[in-house]
Amino acid sequence: MHLPTLIVITLLVNIMIGFYLYVLYQRRPKDRCFKLWALSCACFVAGGSTAALREYDLWPFVSFFISDLLLVSAPVLVLLGLLQFSRFRFTKSKRQRSYCLYGLTVFFMLAAHQHPALISLVAALAIAFTFALAAFLLKKSTFNEPIYTRTLQVIFLLHSVTMLSQATLIILHWGSIEIAGLPGNTIYTLLSHIVLTTVTALLLPWLSFLKLERKLTLKSQRDGLTRLANREYFLNQAERYWRENPHQAVALLMIDIDHFKAVNDRFGHSSGDIAIRSVASVLSRSLRSHDLIGRVGGEEFAAILTNLDFATAKEVGDRLCQQVEDNCKMVGQLQLNITISIGLVEVIPAQHSISAAFKVADDFLYQSKRSGRNKVTTQSLISQ
Ligand code: GH3
Ligand code: MG
Ligand code: MG
Repeated sequence: MHLPTLIVITLLVNIMIGFYLYVLYQRRPKDRCFKLWALSCACFVAGGSTAALREYDLWPFVSFFISDLLLVSAPVLVLLGLLQFSRFRFTKSKRQRSYCLYGLTVFFMLAAHQHPALISLVAALAIAFTFALAAFLLKKSTFNEPIYTRTLQVIFLLHSVTMLSQATLIILHWGSIEIAGLPGNTIYTLLSHIVLTTVTALLLPWLSFLKLERKLTLKSQRDGLTRLANREYFLNQAERYWRENPHQAVALLMIDIDHFKAVNDRFGHSSGDIAIRSVASVLSRSLRSHDLIGRVGGEEFAAILTNLDFATAKEVGDRLCQQVEDNCKMVGQLQLNITISIGLVEVIPAQHSISAAFKVADDFLYQSKRSGRNKVTTQSLISQ
């Protein structure tokens, strides 16, 4: 393909992606990474355009120094955006070291801008280093989207290798470098650099969709007041357990706050909300991390305890009542004396459906209510 045409198309694609990233930033100003990536596209376009002046032997300060500075800044901005996006901990000393390194590169490029080979070499090495660093940091980031992370890593590493081979070619043809700053056959590395930059710019908006998707999925699974699993998600989790562990006994608990209507009536709905939240927090703190717990109704919770025998499950039930009684006496400044009642049933998934287990646990819960509240009624339905 005709190289100048390809370069013009690449620059146009980058302008469009940059504009798109900027629009994303306008819609979600909190996500500053989009601004940085939009700026990165702008730098790449400006750097690519000013580099074209080299053909006409015009203003070496602009066509070499400014141009290469912009081309080096483009991946630096991609890297900064990634750091921002993945909330990577950028300590003060790391930041200072990075500024020093960037400052040094700028200084070298300024000193070398009269020597096409030298400035091209410094720029190629700086870009190679930045992409290698980006690939390394992606490995450490908290962004756990394995396929996506690996794809980006491979692209960054390819970028890095491309720029390293460009640097090698520059060294090999040191004596015969023309004014354009590149030996004839670096045109291929330039081409792959252009293609990889465009692919990177195209991949970045994808991050926003993944992040949004993750946020919405989490939101759809959690109850807004207590942050526990909501009814639908809890039932989904329970169904999954039933499917995956048909022969492992489980304890299902239905938990209901006692006389909660009176709390609302006496202290108001917002105090009632705070009480629900503090009961939820006591319950989830008292269970192990692999137990399931959810808010399945207004002041009703359900829990599934796994890998424990019936006697221990009963003890857990008693402990939950005790902990709520102890920790929810006072909610804020108000003496609410909150207690809970529990219906607990032990079943083997293959022997009882989820709805059957819920029904029995619910019946036992009302038995706890009828017999004085703040207690657990239990039964094992496991047939020997
Ligand atoms: P019992 O001991 O028999 O369970 O009595 P109770 O008063 O707790 O039972 P009931 O089911 O009659 O009342 C539950 C109350 O919980 C009624 C409803 O107004 C209140 N409630 C349900 N969801 C919420 C909520 O999200 N916030 C607040 N503040 N109250 C809620
Ligand atoms: Mg209730
Ligand atoms: Mg109640």
